[in-house]
Formats: sequence, structure tokens, C-alpha cells
Amino acid sequence: MVVKEIISELNQIVSRERVMSDRAILTTYLRPTSGYTTGESEPVLPIAVVRPPTTDHVSQILKFANDNGVPVVSFGGGTSLSGGLSASKPSILLDMSQMNNIVSVSLENSIATVQAGVTIETLDSVAQTGKVFVGHDPEMVGTTFGGAIATNGRGYLSAKYGSMGDQIHGLEVVMANGDIVTGSSIKDSYSSGLNLSNIFVGTEGIYGVITQAQIVLFPEAEERRHYALEFPSFQHGFLGIQRLFAEGINPAMVNFVEAAQDSEDNKIVVDSMSKAVLHLSLEGSSLAVDEEEAKVWDLVSQLGARDLGPTEAQQFWLNRHSPNEDRSFSQSDAGLKINTAVPPSRVLELRQQAINIFDIAGIHVENCSILGRPEMFSLGIPSGQTEVSQENLREAAEAVMTIAVDMGGAVEHSYGIGVRLNRPYANQLGDGGLHIARSLKEALDPNGILNPGKILLD
Ligand SMILES: Cc1cc2nc3c(=O)[nH]c(=O)nc-3n(C[C@H](O)[C@H](O)[C@H](O)COP(=O)(O)OP(=O)(O)OC[C@H]3O[C@@H](n4cnc5c(N)ncnc54)[C@H](O)[C@@H]3O)c2cc1C
Repeated sequence: MVVKEIISELNQIVSRERVMSDRAILTTYLRPTSGYTTGESEPVLPIAVVRPPTTDHVSQILKFANDNGVPVVSFGGGTSLSGGLSASKPSILLDMSQMNNIVSVSLENSIATVQAGVTIETLDSVAQTGKVFVGHDPEMVGTTFGGAIATNGRGYLSAKYGSMGDQIHGLEVVMANGDIVTGSSIKDSYSSGLNLSNIFVGTEGIYGVITQAQIVLFPEAEERRHYALEFPSFQHGFLGIQRLFAEGINPAMVNFVEAAQDSEDNKIVVDSMSKAVLHLSLEGSSLAVDEEEAKVWDLVSQLGARDLGPTEAQQFWLNRHSPNEDRSFSQSDAGLKINTAVPPSRVLELRQQAINIFDIAGIHVENCSILGRPEMFSLGIPSGQTEVSQENLREAAEAVMTIAVDMGGAVEHSYGIGVRLNRPYANQLGDGGLHIARSLKEALDPNGILNPGKILLD
């Protein structure tokens, strides 16, 4: 089918002003992969960008695309870091931003129903007027529920509230052939039997397009208290976090970062005395927080922690939630973040091996961190290391991910698989997992029109 016919058909389905095909506009939708590329050629421009207003329109667009074998890439807030929005062939880009209605907020049931293009902060600000809030609290503003569910993102409060996928009660999804699957058939968070919503969580639109979601809301705690604790080393701080969880303390936020010191070569060295700071939040009734706080002080003082004081602690939280903070970004400047998840007993070993791998490759590691739970170990590699080739960066990153998988872990816990991670992710799934994932793809999207090339190796 020629481009002209595709655009003409899209114009029939939605009104003309919702279909864009100007090269200048299409270019603004291109999103490079952050960190390193995986050998993909020049970015492929979409055939057209279409902004459907309703689920019915999405259904008609997918039916048309499926009947004619035209690929479709769903686009939420456009903040993907893993290449989840890039197209391997000319595609219709389904911009979900106009599906931005909060359909309902039920305080009685603690559930909000939102269209997929609603941003996290939009629902949160509405919810807060009812003294409830959204548990997913990512660093990036402008992310949509569709995108956050499709990547199964994790935010500052994931220690207590889990990933985005843990906070949904049900989904409405449009399948590749245009069928709308809705209501009780996938309202399954409390149901025995298959949890069908989970097929669409973290799978970046390859099995269906999320058009609506029921989001669980949480009651505001009587008190949320923040702490900033400096540990003599990463090892001390990590042990502290492990013990907090072992003692049954249920923090709302765990954000533990070991940053490179301003030494001569400004890099993290295994067993160094790098500054390692834990930003921790406790919440609940004042009495419960008092009790947990006493346990925390007892534990961390045994590990040599220094209290940086309430001002520093409060400031960390405020800075990350300030509407004035400039969060405009370009994916190519974002550097590389490797967000593995491994059994806590293997974290220190992984850190040591990862630092060695990057050191041998001559790549500067900016920080190591634990975000949310002791399992969640991340490494930050800054952009702009001009002497480092993309290939070296990819090889080192994939070597770390291979170790994580061999330890029984996962290659990525937040940013999605996209195209950048589909090779290490295939290793994580193994032959059996890949067989299930591909069989599902063949059954649900036999013409392979939905986000081709993402997550699963072709
Ligand atoms: C500076 C920075 C900080 C970040 N911090 C965090 C963080 O703290 N936590 C975190 O989890 N992530 C973080 N990210 C990554 C990114 O914000 C998340 O992946 C986010 O969830 C993507 O949401 P989005 O709406 O922008 O989706 P997009 O980027 O538009 O899409 C992401 C993927 O989901 C698919 N998709 C989008 N909408 C739908 C839909 N309706 N149905 C089916 N598939 C869909 C897309 O095709 C794509 O594959 C950060 C990114 C940046 C640049």
C-alpha cells in the first residue's frame, strides 16, 4: 500500500487535523536509543503520526493496519531510553497523548480509571485532593500510564508500592486485529486464574495497545519522614539496606547512591571509600514511623552511618518533585544506566565484577546505586566519553548483564527492553521463555504489525 493511501485512510478514520505527515513534524517524534546503539542504521521516519481520541479510533486504525500489513508503534510521553519508540521499518506512529481523560476516580474503591495518555503527575495531582495518591513516582515527568505500564517502570516509591505493573487493577487493550478487550475479562488483580493484564505489562505494545487502565490509589500516610545517611562505603550502606528489610522495616523510598569521588581519575574503585549516601523515607502513622525510625538508627549506627540531617533529606525529596526543576532532556545526553536485578546475596559480587569490566574497557563509571529494594542494582555511565566506542560500551554493558542473568537475575528493572536490550533479554528468557513469548506474539499478532523488533529478537 502506498503512503498516500495510508494517509488518506487514516484521514477517514480520524479527522484530518489528527494525522500528521509533514517531515518536520515526523522528525520531532524520533527518539535515539540512550547509552549506545545496537548497530541499527539511520532512524526510520514514521509514515504518519496519528492522534486517536478514543479506543474505537485505535481499534479502527489497528484493524486497517493489520489488514494491510502496516506496522504500528505506540507513543506515550516519548521518554523511552531503550529504543522502544524507534521503528525498524516505516510505521504508523500512534501518538496516545490525546487520550488524556481521567475517566473516573473512586475514593470509595481507591481506583482511578484513566485513558492511556494521562500522565502520572496529572492523575496524582487530582488524586491528592482526595487524600490519596499514585504509588508510581518516576524521576521523569511527562510519562503516561500507557508508557509506564508498557515498560513496567519503577519510581522513587517502588520500595513500598512496587512497579507500575503492581499498581494496576485492570486494563482495556486493543489487539492487533482491532478487537477491544475490556472490562471484567481482564479486571484480574484479585482473580484466580490467568492474570491477562500481565501479558501487556512490560511488553511495550508488542501484544496490544493499552487504551485505558484502572490504577490503584493509596491513602496518604499520616506522616512521611525523610532521612539522609552517609555510609563509609557502598558495602556498609548495602548491608544496612539488607538489614532494614530483614528486620521487616517497609520503607517508602530507598535511594542509595555511591558517587565517584573527585579523585584524579574521578571513577569508582572496588573497595574504595566512595561517598555512599542513602536517602530513605519512612511513612505511616506517627507512632509507627517513630518505632521504625528507632530501629533504623540502631541498625545504621552499627554500620558507621552519619546523619546528614533533615534539611539535606527534605531537599533531596523536594528537588526531585519540584515543578521548577528542569527535566527537559535529550535521550542521547542521558548517558547509560544499567538497571539489573539480582538476588541480594550477589549484589556486592556483581558490583565488583561490573566495575572491573568497565575499568578494563577504559570506561568511566559515574555511580553505583540501589533503588527501591536490595535486589535493584544499577550502574550509571555518563555520556560524552568520546574515546569509548559504542561497540566497547555495548560489550561491557552486555557482559555485566550476562553475569546478572547467570546469577539468576534480570537485565533491566525500569526502563524497558526496547531494541537496545533485546539480545541480553533473550539470554535472560532462555529457549523456553523465548518460545512462549514468540508463540504468544504469533497468536496475538500473526502479521507482526505491533511494535516490530522490540523486546523479542526477530
Ligand atoms: C531523565 C529520565 C529519567 C527517567 N526516570 C525513570 C524512572 O525513574 N523510572 C522509570 O521507570 N523510567 C524512567 N525513565 C524512562 C521512561 O521515562 C519510562 O520508560 C517511562 O515509563 C516511559 O513512559 P512514556 O509515556 O514516555 O512512554 P514512551 O517512551 O512513549 O513509550 C515507552 C514504550 O511503551 C510503548 N507504549 C507507549 N504507550 C503505549 C500504549 N498505550 N500501549 C502499548 N504500548 C505503549 C512504546 O511503544 C514504547 O515501547 C526515565 C527517562 C529519562 C529520560
